[in-house]
Amino acid sequence: MDNFLTIDVEDYFHVSAFETIVTKEQWPAYECRVVFNTTKVLDLLDRHGVKATFFVLGWVAEHYPDLVAEIDRRGHEIGCHSYYHRLVYDMTPHQFKEDTVRAKDVLEQLLGKRVRGYRAPSYSITQKSLWAYDVLEELGFEYDSSVFPIHHDRYGIPGAPRFPYRVPGHTLKEYPLSTAPIYGNHIPVSGGGYFRLFPYWFIKGALKRINKEEGRSFMFYFHPWEIDPFQPKIRTKNILSRFRHYVNLSRTLPRLDLLLQDFRFRGIS
Ligand SMILES: [Zn+2]
Repeated sequence: MDNFLTIDVEDYFHVSAFETIVTKEQWPAYECRVVFNTTKVLDLLDRHGVKATFFVLGWVAEHYPDLVAEIDRRGHEIGCHSYYHRLVYDMTPHQFKEDTVRAKDVLEQLLGKRVRGYRAPSYSITQKSLWAYDVLEELGFEYDSSVFPIHHDRYGIPGAPRFPYRVPGHTLKEYPLSTAPIYGNHIPVSGGGYFRLFPYWFIKGALKRINKEEGRSFMFYFHPWEIDPFQPKIRTKNILSRFRHYVNLSRTLPRLDLLLQDFRFRGIS
């Protein structure tokens, strides 16, 4: 069974957990790691013969256009991950539209083709920002992959469907981030910090259950900065943010290697 593999292409200083420490005006002063790390990801996928969907930040595309061309040249799908990585529910619909148009235009001009999918920064399409679907549909997106059906301090729509569904009242399709049923709870084992935190045998067993017992595909996600233990450290006083960002970064790449051996993957489109 094919599962969905998605990569959110942004750098270590773009993440929402650091947005109050590193402003977008300061981004150009930070050491760029995203080109090097994404190229390593592309090489890993080539070794396994796997195609994925890369949701690229508009700012990254504008500053490193060759990277977008390289992802496309290697046969992967490119989706939109906003321009400035602002949380959707922190914006007005008008601001959201401006940001999304800017990112989509940059990507489409570089690629010479339409971008069909959107992923919100930090999965920030929640009950507070469901209006985003109207904007995405108006801009011609065919699908979104931003809903995490869990409780979390920054994101999540608890009780949302766990597998792809048509957004009510829209033609847009939603591909939610995956959770696995474990002891009566739904645990988000399918990427990010959770993938780095839990032991691999546990992740593998949980993902296998989605394929075997539920007979469904899962949606896996990660970021290029997650394979980079040598990235410059951002000084934050928030212990939880620090833990989530830096835990087990050196484990990601060898684990992804195992994951790509143990499961089959493809991009969303
Ligand atoms: Zn992101």
